[in-house]
Amino acid sequence: MATPLSADRLVSALKAEGVTVVEHAGWRSHNRNAVGAWGPVNGVLIHHTAGTSSAALVYGGRADLPGPLAHTHLAKSGVATMMSAGRANHAGKAARNAFDAVVAEAATHPKPSASTGTVDGNVHFYGIEIENLGNGRDPYPAVQYEAAVRWAAAICRAHGWGANSVVGHKETSIEGKVDPSFDMAVFRRDVAARLAGPASAKPPKTTTPSKEKPVAAKKPQTYKDVWDTDAATAPSTSTTAKTNPTWAPISFLREIYDGIVRLRADVAALRADLNKKG
Ligand SMILES: [Zn+2]
Repeated sequence: MATPLSADRLVSALKAEGVTVVEHAGWRSHNRNAVGAWGPVNGVLIHHTAGTSSAALVYGGRADLPGPLAHTHLAKSGVATMMSAGRANHAGKAARNAFDAVVAEAATHPKPSASTGTVDGNVHFYGIEIENLGNGRDPYPAVQYEAAVRWAAAICRAHGWGANSVVGHKETSIEGKVDPSFDMAVFRRDVAARLAGPASAKPPKTTTPSKEKPVAAKKPQTYKDVWDTDAATAPSTSTTAKTNPTWAPISFLREIYDGIVRLRADVAALRADLNKKG
C-alpha cells in the first residue's frame, strides 16, 4: 500500500531504469480521478493490447470505456508512451484472493475467484498495455519485452516492492481476461533479476518467452553454414565413408549429379550397343 507516484517521479523512475519514455501531450492531467479513487496503490498490472497501433486507443479509450486505458503504452520498438499518472480504466474488477496475494507479495498467485469478492483494480494498480495481438504467435521483440520488465521493475523499485507485486490481467480478472499472452511467472523472475541489481544495470539475460524471429544471417554465411559444413553422415555405399564419415550437403548433390551423368552415358552406350545388334 502506497501513495501513487507523481507524474515526475514516475517518469524519472522509468528513465533511471533505462526505459525509453515519450510523454503523450496532456498525459499529466489525463485520468479518471473524477469518477473514483486513485490509490493507495499496491501493484502493477500487465496487459497486451490485442491489436496494433493502439496508442491512440489507450489514450482516448472507446465510447463504452473512456480513456486513459493504461498508464503506459508500450510499442513493439520498446518505446513507452506515458498516457496517465492517475486513475486509468485498465484493471476492471480484481478478485479479492488475487488482490490479497499481491498485497501480501505472496510467492504464488492464485487463480482469481469471484467468490472471494472483488476489488476495484483501477484504484490499486498501475497498468501497461503492451502492443501485441495476443494470439500466441505475434512475437514480443526482445527490446519490447525487456522494456516491459524495466517498466514493472522501475515502479516496484520506486515503491520498495518486490516482483510479486507484479501480476498479469489474467491473474486478477474475474471477467475472463487472458492477457498478457506470456508466462507471468517468468516475467516476475525477470523483474526480480532486475531488482536484484541497480536501476542502471544492463539487461540481465532474460528468458524471453516470445517467439523471436531469428536474426537474418548474411547470405554467403548461410550458404556456407548449410551447404559447406561437414555435418551429415556419409552414405555407407561411399568408398570414402570410413576415412570421411561426415559429408557436407553439397557433397551429396555432387555425388548425385555425377551419378546421373554416368548413368546417362551408360544408357546411351547400351542403346548404341542394342542398335548395332538390332
Ligand atoms: Zn488487460
